[in-house]
Amino acid sequence: MEASVKHHILIVEDEPKIAAALADYVRAAGYDASIAERGDLVPGLVATRHVDAILLDLMLPGMDGLDVCRTVREVSQVPILMLTARVEEVDRLLGLELGADDYICKPFSLREVVSRLRAVLRRSAPPDRAPGLPFSLDADRHEVRAGARAVALTPVEYRLLACLCERPGKIVSRQRLLDAAYVDYRVVSDRTVDSHIRNLRRKFEELELAPIASIYGVGFRLEPE
Ligand code: CA
Repeated sequence: MEASVKHHILIVEDEPKIAAALADYVRAAGYDASIAERGDLVPGLVATRHVDAILLDLMLPGMDGLDVCRTVREVSQVPILMLTARVEEVDRLLGLELGADDYICKPFSLREVVSRLRAVLRRSAPPDRAPGLPFSLDADRHEVRAGARAVALTPVEYRLLACLCERPGKIVSRQRLLDAAYVDYRVVSDRTVDSHIRNLRRKFEELELAPIASIYGVGFRLEPE
């Protein structure tokens, strides 16, 4: 993945082992990650660095997760995923309406963290991520639109198309598309990508568009207008 399209995830966690495991897993999923071990560092980081999402522990030195969340929300709508130690905590957190986007209970599975992270990033993505394309993607409805017409996509089709939209005009390999489409790293064959692309093309036909080119033996390319 090119550095320019990698999302940057800020991990706020004071337990070094948990922070390191989260960072490894987030990086393996194709994101950039950095770690803050104190809550009071977060407002400054959000103000000075580009951050696409925050994984935020609740119990932190310096400033606790609740105050971090509140403070960040005053200046930014960056997605925040809170990591809490107890299930019972979640109800209380929800009641506080801090503006966190999701909650995960410890002990969490790293897979779950990454899959929730993808979900909040997707929800926060602007619907039209690639100006110059003859269509737009609606992240909330999982639809592709051209003019007044819209076609519904499956979650896998949506992720594949969003991945192609990150690099219009450039070849995207099947492997990269596979990584984008399957958050849980199921072993699926390259041919699975081909069959989803076929379905996507059929849906584009309904919009009278044919923007996806096959590059023999390599992958696919989205053709800008
Ligand atoms: Ca902690």
